Amino acid sequence: MTVVDDVKSRTDIVELIGARVPLKKAGRTFKANCPFHTERTPSFVVFPERGTWRCFGACGTGGDVFSFLERADNLTFSEALSRLAEQAGVAMPNTRKQTETEQRETDALYTALQNAADYFHRILSLSPAGETARRYLQDRGIDEQTVSDFQLGLAPHGWEILKSHLSDLGHSEAQMLAAGLVIEREGEDGSSYDRFRGRLMFPVRDTKGRVIGFGARALDDSQPKYLNSPQTALFDKGAALYAIDRAQEAIRSEGEIVLVEGYMDVLQAHQRGFRNVAAIMGTALTERQVTLARGLTRRYALALDPDAAGEAATRRNIVDAWDIFRQEVVRVRGGVTSLGIRRELPSLRVIALPPNRDPDDVIRNDPDEWRRRVEEATPILDYLIQWEARTPEAVTPEGRREAVSRIFPLITALDNPFEQQAAFAQLAAALKIDESKLEAAVGRPERRLQRGRAVVGNSGIAAPGGSAADIGGRALEDERGDVVEEHLLALCLSNEHDVSEAWQRLNLPDLTEDHFWDPVNRDLWRVLTTGSHVEQAEAIVSNHARQLQSALPMKLDRRGLGRALGDLVRRMLERQLKRQDEEDALAVASLTNEDGDAGEALRAMTEETRRRFTERIEQLRAVQTGRWNRDSRQTDGEYSG
Ligand SMILES: [Zn+2]
Repeated sequence: MTVVDDVKSRTDIVELIGARVPLKKAGRTFKANCPFHTERTPSFVVFPERGTWRCFGACGTGGDVFSFLERADNLTFSEALSRLAEQAGVAMPNTRKQTETEQRETDALYTALQNAADYFHRILSLSPAGETARRYLQDRGIDEQTVSDFQLGLAPHGWEILKSHLSDLGHSEAQMLAAGLVIEREGEDGSSYDRFRGRLMFPVRDTKGRVIGFGARALDDSQPKYLNSPQTALFDKGAALYAIDRAQEAIRSEGEIVLVEGYMDVLQAHQRGFRNVAAIMGTALTERQVTLARGLTRRYALALDPDAAGEAATRRNIVDAWDIFRQEVVRVRGGVTSLGIRRELPSLRVIALPPNRDPDDVIRNDPDEWRRRVEEATPILDYLIQWEARTPEAVTPEGRREAVSRIFPLITALDNPFEQQAAFAQLAAALKIDESKLEAAVGRPERRLQRGRAVVGNSGIAAPGGSAADIGGRALEDERGDVVEEHLLALCLSNEHDVSEAWQRLNLPDLTEDHFWDPVNRDLWRVLTTGSHVEQAEAIVSNHARQLQSALPMKLDRRGLGRALGDLVRRMLERQLKRQDEEDALAVASLTNEDGDAGEALRAMTEETRRRFTERIEQLRAVQTGRWNRDSRQTDGEYSG
């Protein structure tokens, strides 16, 4: 649940509006004189069950708790959100937009890191002290071009060499500290020393090619062998992929990202022309790393060092990665239908490596073997099943039972019954258990479908007590609402210049922010249609825009854009009409008195609303007299795109 949803669900709309406007209960709704225009009879209705409000009178406004507060107290969306969050006791994440000063400080960190990378690289390439490191790289088969492409470097041996170099360039100690380049001495005020000393340096960059941190390898017996930058405002090991900047073009063109563990694996791969390779830098694959690559491809191949940290740990990493992917599949499935464009579902395969050899060895030894192993990578669930069957314990009944208990939840989490059945059969065969016996022992997988999905949908990692209703509810919500809005917004963001042209060419009707149900989407739409730059929007909205852009990149050609735009606008209008229709029905029921007279309410309404209302009242009367005919209901607002 996002903060916005959380705040919304904890805010009582009747209480919020009732504190400003005297509300009168009317059936399942509440009514009042509209606070946003002058009127003598009430046409302002609050729908507590839906968490919405609407004026059926002259101003015709409507929305949820956020839009009410925005309008009533003249607030921006972010202001309304933080005020309601405070009242509801919901902690707001720090989404405040950077001030100009903060922006300058961030820029200074990037510069400090780039200056450090330049310095390390010069020492490695030019200084006599770099000789040992240069020989090491040569021995590992890394050529000079690769050293220069990746700007590899050497951290000098002293304690304050980088520090004094950077301070000559005008960087403050505070900046070096914030960039993770120096370490504060314990117990002494403000004194610090170089974090990286005598190590081979690998600058880690973001997708824009900016240095965000370093990986560092010891060249002697120093421990640890590998050292990374600490977590900083710019660097988070679990959210970065080494070489993503250089790999992104190839990942896009080849349609797949190959993930390896180490820096050397990446260097060797790129040097031999396998350019879609990036490294997870010694962690288990994280959701944030998947997010980073999501904008580039949906196909991932994972080459994990089988004996890196013991088999159990590697298996755990793979299971974790698998969890993240199932979640990703569920996420994407929710969005498949709304555009009518079939998006490729994410896939994750495991590249099998020969015992005791990492990708670096394999590629150096025989690039063709690497190519073949990547091509023959195994879908992840198959891989896990084979793995279980290979363990020595799998020959005993006890061992097999444990293997089943590890794999079965993964099978039930598949949301396609055919895939489930196939994987179930495969598991039985791999463990040499009769399928019917296995079924008798654990049940058929599809019976557990709901539970499996709940596990996946939760946080990616199996969490007991995750309710299936959460997931079902969310999936439903996706189908109904947000996916349509988000696709439309992503489309507008990715095709900035062509959208308004297409809109005019297709003569599409205007969408107002009221067409958007999600408060953040609504605010983003407001930003886009007022011609402001997304970057200038408040943090929560510009972050949302960035997420949409990376999660749903939808650069389309002229025809594709027109078709998608037409489809999405039609869907938006249909939903809006449906909602209006439902609210009309509720309001009619509440505002009409026992005699079926809505006189008081009707007088205050706009002509259009009055027409719809009168129609509704007619229908109600018709139902009472048994004359109601569904066909007489008019579907206005017909739109052909
Ligand atoms: Zn009004």
